[in-house]
Amino acid sequence: MKIGIPKESQDNRIAMVPATMKKIASEQVIFLVENNAGVNASLPDTTFSEVATITDRATIFQDADIIVSVNPLEDAELSKLKKGTLLISMFAPYVDDSIIGKLKDHGLQGVSMDMIPRTSLAQAMDILSSMAAVAGYKAVLTAANHLPRYFPMMITAAGSIRPAKVLVLGAGVAGLQAIATARRLGSMVEAFDVRKAAKEEVESLGAKFVEVEGAADDSAAGGYAVEQSEEFIKRQRAEVQNRAAKADVIITTAQVRGRKAPILLPKETVDKMKTGSVVVDLASSTGGNCELSKDNEIVIHNGVKIIGNSALASDMPQDASTLFSNNILNFLKLIIKDGEMVLDMENEIIKSALITG
Ligand code: NAD
Repeated sequence: MKIGIPKESQDNRIAMVPATMKKIASEQVIFLVENNAGVNASLPDTTFSEVATITDRATIFQDADIIVSVNPLEDAELSKLKKGTLLISMFAPYVDDSIIGKLKDHGLQGVSMDMIPRTSLAQAMDILSSMAAVAGYKAVLTAANHLPRYFPMMITAAGSIRPAKVLVLGAGVAGLQAIATARRLGSMVEAFDVRKAAKEEVESLGAKFVEVEGAADDSAAGGYAVEQSEEFIKRQRAEVQNRAAKADVIITTAQVRGRKAPILLPKETVDKMKTGSVVVDLASSTGGNCELSKDNEIVIHNGVKIIGNSALASDMPQDASTLFSNNILNFLKLIIKDGEMVLDMENEIIKSALITG
Protein backbone atom coordinates (compact mmCIF):
# COMPACT_ATOMS: atom_id res chain seq x y z
CA MET A 1 0.00 0.00 0.00
CA LYS A 2 1.46 3.34 -1.07
CA ILE A 3 0.25 6.65 0.37
CA GLY A 4 1.15 9.77 -1.63
CA ILE A 5 1.49 13.28 -0.23
CA PRO A 6 1.63 15.91 -3.00
CA LYS A 7 2.82 19.49 -2.51
CA GLU A 8 -0.03 21.96 -1.96
CA SER A 9 -0.14 24.65 -4.63
CA GLN A 10 -1.87 27.45 -2.68
CA ASP A 11 -1.24 26.51 0.93
CA ASN A 12 1.75 26.40 3.26
CA ARG A 13 0.56 23.25 5.02
CA ILE A 14 1.38 19.63 4.18
CA ALA A 15 -1.20 16.88 4.77
CA MET A 16 1.11 14.53 6.70
CA VAL A 17 4.25 15.19 8.75
CA PRO A 18 7.11 12.77 9.49
CA ALA A 19 6.28 12.27 13.18
CA THR A 20 2.79 11.01 12.27
CA MET A 21 3.92 8.94 9.30
CA LYS A 22 6.30 7.09 11.64
CA LYS A 23 3.32 5.75 13.59
CA ILE A 24 1.90 3.89 10.60
CA ALA A 25 4.79 3.40 8.13
CA SER A 26 5.85 -0.23 7.71
CA GLU A 27 6.94 -2.65 5.00
CA GLN A 28 3.30 -2.76 3.93
CA VAL A 29 2.53 0.96 4.27
CA ILE A 30 4.94 3.12 2.25
CA PHE A 31 4.83 6.90 2.02
CA LEU A 32 5.70 8.85 -1.15
CA VAL A 33 6.22 12.57 -0.58
CA GLU A 34 6.58 15.14 -3.37
CA ASN A 35 9.84 17.12 -3.50
CA ASN A 36 9.68 20.19 -1.26
CA ALA A 37 6.11 19.39 -0.15
CA GLY A 38 6.86 20.33 3.47
CA VAL A 39 9.24 23.19 2.87
CA ASN A 40 6.70 25.97 3.55
CA ALA A 41 5.85 24.31 6.87
CA SER A 42 9.58 24.32 7.78
CA LEU A 43 9.77 20.57 7.08
CA PRO A 44 12.51 20.16 4.44
CA ASP A 45 12.79 16.92 2.48
CA THR A 46 15.56 15.68 4.81
CA THR A 47 13.07 15.48 7.71
CA PHE A 48 11.12 12.83 5.76
CA SER A 49 14.14 10.68 4.87
CA GLU A 50 13.54 8.03 7.57
CA VAL A 51 9.85 7.51 6.85
CA ALA A 52 9.18 8.31 3.20
CA THR A 53 10.51 8.26 -0.34
CA ILE A 54 10.86 11.73 -1.80
CA THR A 55 9.76 11.72 -5.42
CA ASP A 56 8.05 13.78 -8.13
CA ARG A 57 4.35 14.50 -8.52
CA ALA A 58 3.91 12.29 -11.59
CA THR A 59 5.31 9.24 -9.75
CA ILE A 60 2.93 9.83 -6.84
CA PHE A 61 -0.01 10.04 -9.24
CA GLN A 62 1.00 6.79 -10.98
CA ASP A 63 1.95 4.73 -7.91
CA ALA A 64 -0.10 5.80 -4.92
CA ASP A 65 -3.15 3.82 -3.76
CA ILE A 66 -4.17 6.66 -1.43
CA ILE A 67 -3.39 10.35 -1.95
CA VAL A 68 -3.82 12.71 1.01
CA SER A 69 -3.92 16.46 0.47
CA VAL A 70 -5.12 19.45 2.49
CA ASN A 71 -6.87 20.98 -0.54
CA PRO A 72 -8.36 18.91 -3.38
CA LEU A 73 -6.20 18.30 -6.45
CA GLU A 74 -6.99 20.35 -9.55
CA ASP A 75 -9.74 18.80 -11.71
CA ALA A 76 -7.26 18.56 -14.61
CA GLU A 77 -5.05 16.27 -12.54
CA LEU A 78 -7.72 13.64 -11.87
CA SER A 79 -7.16 11.97 -15.25
CA LYS A 80 -3.49 11.39 -14.35
CA LEU A 81 -4.32 9.14 -11.38
CA LYS A 82 -4.49 5.38 -11.26
CA LYS A 83 -8.08 4.01 -11.37
CA GLY A 84 -9.27 3.04 -7.90
CA THR A 85 -7.06 5.56 -6.09
CA LEU A 86 -8.61 6.89 -2.88
CA LEU A 87 -8.28 10.66 -2.50
CA ILE A 88 -8.51 12.01 1.04
CA SER A 89 -8.97 15.78 1.27
CA MET A 90 -11.42 18.54 2.23
CA PHE A 91 -13.80 18.47 -0.75
CA ALA A 92 -16.62 20.44 0.93
CA PRO A 93 -19.36 18.70 -1.12
CA TYR A 94 -21.99 20.63 0.88
CA VAL A 95 -20.78 23.74 -0.99
CA ASP A 96 -20.40 22.18 -4.45
CA ASP A 97 -21.19 18.50 -4.98
CA SER A 98 -19.98 18.37 -8.61
CA ILE A 99 -16.71 16.86 -7.32
CA ILE A 100 -18.52 13.58 -6.61
CA GLY A 101 -19.37 13.06 -10.30
CA LYS A 102 -15.88 14.08 -11.39
CA LEU A 103 -14.22 11.54 -9.09
CA LYS A 104 -16.59 8.79 -10.21
CA ASP A 105 -16.04 9.64 -13.90
CA HIS A 106 -12.32 9.00 -13.41
CA GLY A 107 -12.87 5.78 -11.45
CA LEU A 108 -11.59 7.38 -8.23
CA GLN A 109 -12.84 7.23 -4.66
CA GLY A 110 -13.05 10.27 -2.40
CA VAL A 111 -13.05 10.73 1.35
CA SER A 112 -13.99 14.24 2.45
CA MET A 113 -12.62 14.79 5.93
CA ASP A 114 -15.08 17.67 6.45
CA MET A 115 -17.97 15.17 6.23
CA ILE A 116 -16.93 13.23 9.32
CA PRO A 117 -19.77 13.30 11.87
CA ARG A 118 -19.48 15.44 14.99
CA THR A 119 -19.45 12.58 17.47
CA SER A 120 -17.06 11.90 20.36
CA LEU A 121 -15.67 8.89 18.49
CA ALA A 122 -14.82 10.97 15.42
CA GLN A 123 -13.40 13.94 17.33
CA ALA A 124 -9.79 12.78 16.84
CA MET A 125 -10.34 12.97 13.05
CA ASP A 126 -12.14 16.31 13.05
CA ILE A 127 -10.04 18.44 10.72
CA LEU A 128 -12.58 21.30 10.69
CA SER A 129 -12.18 21.71 14.44
CA SER A 130 -8.40 21.48 14.54
CA MET A 131 -7.98 23.98 11.71
CA ALA A 132 -10.64 26.32 13.14
CA ALA A 133 -8.78 26.41 16.45
CA VAL A 134 -5.56 27.47 14.68
CA ALA A 135 -7.48 30.13 12.73
CA GLY A 136 -9.11 31.53 15.89
CA TYR A 137 -5.73 31.88 17.58
CA LYS A 138 -4.12 33.49 14.52
CA ALA A 139 -7.08 35.85 14.06
CA VAL A 140 -6.35 37.49 17.41
CA LEU A 141 -2.62 37.76 16.72
CA THR A 142 -3.39 39.27 13.30
CA ALA A 143 -5.74 41.79 14.89
CA ALA A 144 -3.14 42.65 17.57
CA ASN A 145 -0.55 43.30 14.86
CA HIS A 146 -2.85 45.72 13.04
CA LEU A 147 -4.30 47.46 16.11
CA PRO A 148 -2.61 50.76 16.92
CA ARG A 149 -3.12 50.00 20.63
CA TYR A 150 -2.12 47.53 23.35
CA PHE A 151 -4.36 44.54 24.16
CA PRO A 152 -3.64 44.45 27.93
CA MET A 153 -4.10 47.17 30.50
CA MET A 154 -0.78 48.94 31.15
CA ILE A 155 0.08 51.03 34.16
CA THR A 156 3.38 52.72 33.51
CA ALA A 157 5.31 55.81 34.63
CA ALA A 158 4.32 57.33 31.29
CA GLY A 159 0.64 56.85 32.00
CA SER A 160 -2.06 54.19 32.04
CA ILE A 161 -3.54 52.39 29.08
CA ARG A 162 -6.97 50.81 29.29
CA PRO A 163 -7.35 47.24 27.95
CA ALA A 164 -8.62 46.69 24.42
CA LYS A 165 -12.24 45.60 23.96
CA VAL A 166 -12.69 42.56 21.75
CA LEU A 167 -16.01 41.37 20.36
CA VAL A 168 -16.23 37.81 19.01
CA LEU A 169 -19.17 36.94 16.76
CA GLY A 170 -19.72 33.18 16.58
CA ALA A 171 -18.40 31.20 19.56
CA GLY A 172 -17.75 27.82 17.94
CA VAL A 173 -14.31 26.23 17.76
CA ALA A 174 -12.59 29.24 16.13
CA GLY A 175 -14.49 31.77 18.24
CA LEU A 176 -13.70 30.04 21.54
CA GLN A 177 -10.01 29.85 20.66
CA ALA A 178 -10.11 33.56 19.72
CA ILE A 179 -11.75 34.36 23.07
CA ALA A 180 -9.12 32.36 24.99
CA THR A 181 -6.26 34.02 23.08
CA ALA A 182 -7.69 37.53 23.46
CA ARG A 183 -8.17 36.92 27.20
CA ARG A 184 -4.57 35.64 27.53
CA LEU A 185 -3.40 38.88 25.94
CA GLY A 186 -5.29 40.77 28.62
CA SER A 187 -8.19 42.28 26.69
CA MET A 188 -11.86 42.49 27.72
CA VAL A 189 -13.95 40.10 25.63
CA GLU A 190 -17.63 39.84 24.73
CA ALA A 191 -19.10 37.15 22.48
CA PHE A 192 -22.29 36.29 20.60
CA ASP A 193 -23.61 32.99 19.31
CA VAL A 194 -26.97 31.59 18.33
CA ARG A 195 -26.35 28.21 19.92
CA LYS A 196 -27.47 28.18 23.54
CA ALA A 197 -24.68 25.73 24.45
CA ALA A 198 -22.12 28.43 23.66
CA LYS A 199 -23.08 30.61 26.67
CA GLU A 200 -21.47 28.38 29.28
CA GLU A 201 -18.33 27.84 27.18
CA VAL A 202 -17.88 31.59 26.62
CA GLU A 203 -18.36 32.36 30.31
CA SER A 204 -15.94 29.64 31.38
CA LEU A 205 -13.24 31.46 29.39
CA GLY A 206 -13.84 34.67 31.33
CA ALA A 207 -15.74 36.48 28.58
CA LYS A 208 -19.21 38.02 28.65
CA PHE A 209 -21.92 36.26 26.61
CA VAL A 210 -24.33 38.62 24.89
CA GLU A 211 -27.70 36.98 24.52
CA VAL A 212 -30.31 37.72 21.86
CA GLU A 213 -33.59 35.96 22.55
CA GLY A 214 -35.48 33.89 19.97
CA ALA A 215 -32.77 31.95 18.09
CA ALA A 216 -33.95 29.01 15.93
CA ASP A 217 -33.73 25.53 17.49
CA ASP A 218 -30.50 23.78 16.42
CA SER A 219 -30.82 20.62 18.52
CA ALA A 220 -31.17 18.39 15.44
CA ALA A 221 -28.34 20.01 13.42
CA GLY A 222 -25.49 17.78 14.66
CA GLY A 223 -23.47 20.54 16.36
CA TYR A 224 -23.92 23.04 13.51
CA ALA A 225 -25.91 26.27 13.65
CA VAL A 226 -29.09 26.62 11.61
CA GLU A 227 -30.18 29.58 9.53
CA GLN A 228 -31.95 32.30 11.59
CA SER A 229 -35.10 34.22 10.74
CA GLU A 230 -34.71 37.68 9.18
CA GLU A 231 -36.44 39.12 12.27
CA PHE A 232 -33.90 37.51 14.64
CA ILE A 233 -30.93 38.65 12.51
CA LYS A 234 -32.34 42.22 12.58
CA ARG A 235 -32.47 42.22 16.40
CA GLN A 236 -29.05 40.63 16.59
CA ARG A 237 -27.57 43.26 14.27
CA ALA A 238 -28.96 46.06 16.47
CA GLU A 239 -27.39 44.48 19.57
CA VAL A 240 -24.08 43.93 17.74
CA GLN A 241 -24.09 47.56 16.59
CA ASN A 242 -24.20 48.84 20.20
CA ARG A 243 -21.21 46.68 21.13
CA ALA A 244 -19.29 47.27 17.88
CA ALA A 245 -19.25 51.03 18.43
CA LYS A 246 -17.22 50.49 21.62
CA ALA A 247 -14.99 47.63 20.38
CA ASP A 248 -11.35 47.93 19.32
CA VAL A 249 -11.32 44.51 17.66
CA ILE A 250 -14.07 42.35 16.20
CA ILE A 251 -13.38 38.74 15.24
CA THR A 252 -16.17 37.18 13.19
CA THR A 253 -16.48 33.42 12.78
CA ALA A 254 -20.22 32.83 12.26
CA GLN A 255 -20.91 30.15 9.67
CA VAL A 256 -23.91 28.08 8.65
CA ARG A 257 -22.69 24.92 6.93
CA GLY A 258 -23.41 24.87 3.21
CA ARG A 259 -24.94 28.38 3.26
CA LYS A 260 -23.69 31.90 2.78
CA ALA A 261 -22.39 33.32 6.07
CA PRO A 262 -24.85 35.62 7.91
CA ILE A 263 -24.10 39.36 7.66
CA LEU A 264 -23.69 40.48 11.26
CA LEU A 265 -21.72 43.68 10.55
CA PRO A 266 -23.50 45.68 7.85
CA LYS A 267 -21.88 48.86 6.52
CA GLU A 268 -23.92 51.04 8.88
CA THR A 269 -22.39 49.21 11.86
CA VAL A 270 -18.86 49.65 10.53
CA ASP A 271 -19.70 53.37 10.08
CA LYS A 272 -20.22 53.56 13.86
CA MET A 273 -16.89 51.90 14.72
CA LYS A 274 -13.86 53.79 16.03
CA THR A 275 -11.05 54.84 13.69
CA GLY A 276 -8.12 52.43 14.13
CA SER A 277 -10.31 49.49 15.11
CA VAL A 278 -9.82 46.15 13.35
CA VAL A 279 -12.22 43.50 12.05
CA VAL A 280 -10.88 40.02 11.22
CA ASP A 281 -13.50 38.14 9.22
CA LEU A 282 -12.84 34.38 9.23
CA ALA A 283 -16.04 33.78 7.26
CA SER A 284 -14.86 35.82 4.25
CA SER A 285 -14.61 32.80 1.92
CA THR A 286 -18.35 32.10 2.34
CA GLY A 287 -19.40 35.72 1.79
CA GLY A 288 -18.21 37.20 5.08
CA ASN A 289 -19.93 38.25 8.31
CA CYS A 290 -19.03 41.86 7.51
CA GLU A 291 -20.76 43.41 4.51
CA LEU A 292 -17.55 45.22 3.52
CA SER A 293 -15.19 42.20 3.75
CA LYS A 294 -13.32 41.04 0.69
CA ASP A 295 -11.81 37.57 0.83
CA ASN A 296 -7.99 37.66 1.06
CA GLU A 297 -7.94 41.46 1.12
CA ILE A 298 -7.63 44.23 3.67
CA VAL A 299 -10.30 46.89 3.18
CA ILE A 300 -9.99 50.20 5.02
CA HIS A 301 -13.33 51.96 5.61
CA ASN A 302 -13.29 55.27 7.53
CA GLY A 303 -10.10 54.19 9.29
CA VAL A 304 -11.48 50.74 10.23
CA LYS A 305 -9.35 47.87 8.89
CA ILE A 306 -11.39 44.89 7.70
CA ILE A 307 -9.22 41.82 7.15
CA GLY A 308 -10.97 39.06 5.18
CA ASN A 309 -9.12 35.81 5.69
CA SER A 310 -10.57 32.31 5.94
CA ALA A 311 -7.21 30.61 5.44
CA LEU A 312 -5.36 31.65 8.58
CA ALA A 313 -4.45 28.03 9.41
CA SER A 314 -2.06 28.22 6.45
CA ASP A 315 -0.27 31.10 8.23
CA MET A 316 0.82 28.80 11.08
CA PRO A 317 1.74 25.89 8.82
CA GLN A 318 3.88 23.70 11.02
CA ASP A 319 1.53 23.11 13.94
CA ALA A 320 -1.49 23.22 11.63
CA SER A 321 0.11 20.46 9.52
CA THR A 322 0.89 18.40 12.63
CA LEU A 323 -2.73 18.57 13.81
CA PHE A 324 -4.08 17.90 10.32
CA SER A 325 -1.72 14.95 10.02
CA ASN A 326 -2.83 13.50 13.38
CA ASN A 327 -6.46 13.72 12.25
CA ILE A 328 -5.54 11.89 9.03
CA LEU A 329 -3.59 9.22 10.92
CA ASN A 330 -6.63 8.44 13.06
CA PHE A 331 -8.73 8.05 9.92
CA LEU A 332 -6.10 5.89 8.17
CA LYS A 333 -6.03 3.57 11.19
CA LEU A 334 -9.71 3.02 10.59
CA ILE A 335 -9.36 2.05 6.92
CA ILE A 336 -6.01 0.22 6.79
CA LYS A 337 -5.99 -3.34 8.09
CA ASP A 338 -2.77 -5.38 7.76
CA GLY A 339 -1.51 -3.11 5.01
CA GLU A 340 -4.74 -3.39 2.98
CA MET A 341 -7.41 -0.74 2.48
CA VAL A 342 -10.78 -1.87 3.86
CA LEU A 343 -13.71 0.55 3.50
CA ASP A 344 -16.25 -0.86 5.93
CA MET A 345 -19.54 0.79 5.00
CA GLU A 346 -21.10 -0.40 8.27
CA ASN A 347 -18.82 2.07 10.03
CA GLU A 348 -20.67 5.38 10.55
CA ILE A 349 -17.53 7.53 10.12
CA ILE A 350 -16.43 5.86 6.87
CA LYS A 351 -19.98 5.89 5.53
CA SER A 352 -20.33 9.65 6.14
CA ALA A 353 -16.90 10.59 4.80
CA LEU A 354 -16.78 8.41 1.65
CA ILE A 355 -18.51 10.77 -0.75
CA THR A 356 -18.25 8.38 -3.70
CA GLY A 357 -19.69 5.47 -1.72
P1 NAD B 1 -19.12 26.59 12.49
O1 NAD B 1 -17.74 26.88 12.00
O2 NAD B 1 -20.08 25.91 11.59
O3 NAD B 1 -19.77 28.00 12.97
C1 NAD B 1 -19.08 28.88 13.84
C2 NAD B 1 -20.02 29.43 14.90
O4 NAD B 1 -20.89 30.40 14.30
C3 NAD B 1 -20.94 28.38 15.55
O5 NAD B 1 -20.73 28.39 16.95
C4 NAD B 1 -22.33 28.86 15.15
O6 NAD B 1 -23.29 28.57 16.15
C5 NAD B 1 -22.12 30.34 14.99
N1 NAD B 1 -23.17 31.06 14.24
C6 NAD B 1 -23.85 30.68 13.12
N2 NAD B 1 -24.75 31.63 12.77
C7 NAD B 1 -24.62 32.65 13.68
C8 NAD B 1 -25.26 33.90 13.86
N3 NAD B 1 -26.24 34.34 13.05
N4 NAD B 1 -24.86 34.66 14.90
C9 NAD B 1 -23.89 34.26 15.77
N5 NAD B 1 -23.26 33.08 15.65
C10 NAD B 1 -23.62 32.28 14.62
O7 NAD B 1 -19.12 25.77 13.84
P2 NAD B 1 -17.92 25.07 14.62
O8 NAD B 1 -17.12 26.10 15.28
O9 NAD B 1 -17.19 24.14 13.71
O10 NAD B 1 -18.70 24.15 15.69
C11 NAD B 1 -19.74 24.61 16.48
C12 NAD B 1 -19.89 23.69 17.69
O11 NAD B 1 -20.08 22.32 17.29
C13 NAD B 1 -18.67 23.63 18.60
O12 NAD B 1 -18.56 24.67 19.48
C14 NAD B 1 -18.89 22.31 19.32
O13 NAD B 1 -19.74 22.47 20.42
C15 NAD B 1 -19.56 21.48 18.29
N6 NAD B 1 -18.59 20.51 17.73
C16 NAD B 1 -18.63 19.22 18.18
C17 NAD B 1 -17.70 18.29 17.68
C18 NAD B 1 -17.69 16.87 18.14
O14 NAD B 1 -18.41 16.55 19.05
N7 NAD B 1 -16.91 16.00 17.50
C19 NAD B 1 -16.78 18.68 16.71
C20 NAD B 1 -16.78 20.00 16.27
C21 NAD B 1 -17.69 20.89 16.79
